[in-house]
Amino acid sequence: MSVYKAEYIWIDGTEPTAKLRSKGKVVPVGEEPPIWGFDGSSTNQAPGEASDCVLRPVFTCPDPIRGGDNILVMCEVLLPDMTPHPSNTRAACAAAAEQYAGLDFWFGIEQEYTFFTGVRSQPLGWPDNGFPAPQGGYYCGVGSDEVFGRPVVEDHLDACIDAGLQIAGINAEVMPAQWEFQIGPIGAPAVGDHLWVARWLLYRIGERHNVAATLDPKPVEGDWNGAGAHTNFSTNAMREDYDACIAAAEALKGNHEEHIANYGDRIERRLTGLHETASYEEFKYGVSDRGASVRIPWQVARDGKGYIEDRRPNANCDPYKVTELIINTVGGAAS
Ligand code: ADP
Ligand code: MN
Ligand code: MN
Ligand code: MN
Repeated sequence: MSVYKAEYIWIDGTEPTAKLRSKGKVVPVGEEPPIWGFDGSSTNQAPGEASDCVLRPVFTCPDPIRGGDNILVMCEVLLPDMTPHPSNTRAACAAAAEQYAGLDFWFGIEQEYTFFTGVRSQPLGWPDNGFPAPQGGYYCGVGSDEVFGRPVVEDHLDACIDAGLQIAGINAEVMPAQWEFQIGPIGAPAVGDHLWVARWLLYRIGERHNVAATLDPKPVEGDWNGAGAHTNFSTNAMREDYDACIAAAEALKGNHEEHIANYGDRIERRLTGLHETASYEEFKYGVSDRGASVRIPWQVARDGKGYIEDRRPNANCDPYKVTELIINTVGGAAS
């Protein structure tokens, strides 16, 4: 009997920021990856005396690590009665997308992250004592004195492409050892599925290079940029009409606190009003404004249609939660 390997990936119950877990299953060729389970008492998802949690596959793709016919299986976590587990944020995201399917939301999420060395636990390429030169030359930089970790970034980009993920690009970021990749444009909850798998691939490829990627929103205190997950989005109306883009920004303004509360742990450390952010305590939007909560790209203002960028989400946000909130806030105001 011939078989393939299916790596089941899920989101655990770690507070305040969930982690990814995965385990491998050998499946006979010709069979779909089945519903499976795990020990929820080891992932902060169940008590020891009733530890079983259910893994239901929601998205599969080729496994670029193992190659061949092997696959990655993104799962949602269910209780044994097959209802969503409290840690399952995908179910509500899928419901919101279903409710507002007529608006045809698209999302493009810019995932920023920082490399740390495995042993010393400091940003990759930073000196043992003191700090690198101040920010200025690192963003989209080139050269061994400017960028740190490019081999990992290139391996990760290839892996995302080989997996068939909707990856849009990569770039080196403002803080040395900080990078970004973008997923999208694609609908929800698919953007969350692809982003969580891309995060898993980043960590998994980091193992090969002995480099740890972190989504810490403020990995180094002081005059160093934090890490965000700018969430670009559009509806069918926004893609046709500038007024709909403004209406979406106004809708977000009306629900600022709820979004901030769900955009990632320690968001107040990152959204200080400095380092290309608006303070978490205010909401403002503007054309080309990287100090705003929401930026309207200049091409969108010129063309009179397109999309807007919610710059508030942290790198450590849950994309299912972020997209669910945007769909409900913007969709609710539009209908
Ligand atoms: P930035 O200039 O902020 O660095 P990026 O180029 O990193 O922007 O990311 C822009 C993201 O917006 C990409 O992921 C892209 O796929 C996405 N995007 C482009 N057009 C749309 C659209 N109409 N709706 C939603 N997302 C879009
Ligand atoms: Mn970007
Ligand atoms: Mn960026
Ligand atoms: Mn951006």
